[in-house]
Amino acid sequence: MASILFHPVVPLTLGYVANRADVPWRLIVIGMICAILPDFDVIGFKFHIDYHSTFGHRGFTHSVLFAAIIAAFGFLAAPTLKLKPLATAVFIFIATLSHGLIDALTNGGLGVAFFAPFSNERYFFPWQVIEVSPIGIRNFLSERGLTVLNSELIWIGLPCLFVALTTYIYRQTKSNQHD
Ligand SMILES: [Zn+2]
Repeated sequence: MASILFHPVVPLTLGYVANRADVPWRLIVIGMICAILPDFDVIGFKFHIDYHSTFGHRGFTHSVLFAAIIAAFGFLAAPTLKLKPLATAVFIFIATLSHGLIDALTNGGLGVAFFAPFSNERYFFPWQVIEVSPIGIRNFLSERGLTVLNSELIWIGLPCLFVALTTYIYRQTKSNQHD
């Protein structure tokens, strides 16, 4: 995983850029939770599920199918939450899948099983620029943790900040033109 701190930044940024009528703030918060969801597979370690297996870490919960299932729940729950079903499903799908995509940019552990449970092949992108985060809080609160945060700040934080700022400036200019 990349650290739990930075996964939610991706849907936060995408949600900010999106049309507020389609993606209101409550949906952004749901998306941020969805972006952390896949890493609950680390409880598998406690039950001695092998890292390499389909349901091991970075396995099924990091797959395209898992993101689609969570999106389907979102689609069904949307009317209750007064959200637009299709926009909700699309946003949740992207938010959940963004987790695996970010993990595939890290430089450690096993790759991501994007096509689980049909294939357990693990994938990385050719650019493994993000330092892999150690598993567990105790390991994270170390010098290694700082290195990880640093690389996540550079490779996730800064690009997202750039996108958000550009959007903000664009919107400000546009609304000034209407004044
Ligand atoms: Zn992960």
